[in-house]
Amino acid sequence: MTERAVRTQVLIIGSGAGGSVTALEFARAGVDVTILEEGKRHDRTTDYALGTTESMKRLYRRRGMMPIVGRVPMGYVEGRCVGGSTEINSGFWHRTPREVLVRWRAQFDLEGASVEDLAPHFDWCEEQLSVGLSDRPWAKSTEIFARGADAMGWASKEVPRAATNCQNSNACATGCATGAKQGMSISLLPKAEAAGARLITGAHVKLLVKSGDRITGVLAELDDPESGTRRMVRIDAEHVFVCAGPTETPALLRRSGIKFHVGDTLLVHPMLKVVARFPERIDAYDNVLPLLQVREFWPEVSMGGAFFTPGHAALSLSDNWAPKRLQHLRNMAGYYVAVRGRGRGQVRPGVLGDDSTVLRYELADEDVVNLSDGLARLSELLLAAGAEEVFPSVQGLPSIKTERDAVRWLDDRIPRSALSLTTVHAFSTCPIGERVDRCAADSFGKMARFSNLYVNDASMLPDSPGVNPQGSVMAFARRNALHFLDAQS
Ligand SMILES: Cc1cc2nc3c(=O)[nH]c(=O)nc-3n(C[C@H](O)[C@H](O)[C@H](O)COP(=O)(O)OP(=O)(O)OC[C@H]3O[C@@H](n4cnc5c(N)ncnc54)[C@H](O)[C@@H]3O)c2cc1C
Repeated sequence: MTERAVRTQVLIIGSGAGGSVTALEFARAGVDVTILEEGKRHDRTTDYALGTTESMKRLYRRRGMMPIVGRVPMGYVEGRCVGGSTEINSGFWHRTPREVLVRWRAQFDLEGASVEDLAPHFDWCEEQLSVGLSDRPWAKSTEIFARGADAMGWASKEVPRAATNCQNSNACATGCATGAKQGMSISLLPKAEAAGARLITGAHVKLLVKSGDRITGVLAELDDPESGTRRMVRIDAEHVFVCAGPTETPALLRRSGIKFHVGDTLLVHPMLKVVARFPERIDAYDNVLPLLQVREFWPEVSMGGAFFTPGHAALSLSDNWAPKRLQHLRNMAGYYVAVRGRGRGQVRPGVLGDDSTVLRYELADEDVVNLSDGLARLSELLLAAGAEEVFPSVQGLPSIKTERDAVRWLDDRIPRSALSLTTVHAFSTCPIGERVDRCAADSFGKMARFSNLYVNDASMLPDSPGVNPQGSVMAFARRNALHFLDAQS
């Protein structure tokens, strides 16, 4: 039986990067706001940094098993907890590059999104999250990367993070127990709640309830801690902001029969990881991940440091397994090459229930070219930095030991079937802009054909930002929230 629970002015679905900004701005403006979050609220001091298996169970959607299917399958993960993926990400922070914004304007007629339009929103987010450079000496894995970039003469830069007081505990992906990383659960959400926002956790929104061009409310399944069961409730709202992330926002919309340009344009940054072995001790898994990115080949190709634990090392090395290699774990560090992703994908609600969303993505030929070039460049850099061997996540590929082995991939192409790819950056499943032939929502996230339904998360980015996306998601979300408030007043 469905009960009628609360009625709220604004309902926000999802408490991640997009949902938290939206909630805070609305609550501070005196709006009656309720956030429904499917995941649980965790105490970082007891529930975070518990190791990969336990963290995946608590903090990740489907325990971290969300393959993106296609001719080249890709491992993908996202958060399902209070704070969403910001609880398990590395906190790297970028502003959306000018060129990207100009392209979005040209391709999607995206309004109000110039560098100047977004600057105050980036300023605000950066202040809220104390975004900045590390205040500690670089870890060895970062130093080495800098050395390699210098040797190659390539531009590289330490990327600011939403974790300026990082204690180098190497727990980004398992939840930062020190509280240095400013995930939403310790940054914006407490402020939103203090300002009056209601956060209901363990609340899985199943369906949006429609009436004409309006969403009148949602049906959500709620944890009932007293009985230990779940119950279905209906929550009515005047306005609904869907901020359930790049995969679940389109899945929920499509489940609710809202399909216009929804879930048809999944974009990702495909990522190829490598493990490099050095003659000296690196202790990468006892330290923060490498903080530098090489921008020389941007926007198509970026390189940087990957989260590295014994488990991640084993996974990366498993493509060409030789157990003895792990003996050198202390001398190893993980790095990646990521490409902008020119292929296209799809999100569809699963037929096996709400937790079986199907993700598809086909690598474009250009992606394979860029990944091959990127592997060549990254290997050159690591060899120049002193690596003795580079082990790419490419099945059947012997380790790269010489410059000649490395540059081979500038001309040859890695066979698709041999690529072991992952990604943690997904977006563009409900693109915003004024182009009705391409966009699911207008430039400020209002869904086409609806008068009170909005998207305000990574799904709205019209195309790949070409950089780590959290900054773009948050700045756009704030811009849209203030635009909404303006329109109401
Ligand atoms: C491992 C990892 C590392 C990353 N590293 C970086 C990085 O260093 N820098 C960077 O810029 N980006 C990084 N990202 C990406 C970044 O975290 C995301 O782009 C960003 O968090 C997306 O924000 P969002 O609001 O769209 O979704 P999320 O932050 O994922 O929030 C969505 C929320 O909605 C909830 N939800 C979903 N469906 C429902 C439903 N039906 N009902 C109720 N609630 C629901 C989810 O549980 C989740 O809490 C990383 C991501 C991952 C996974």
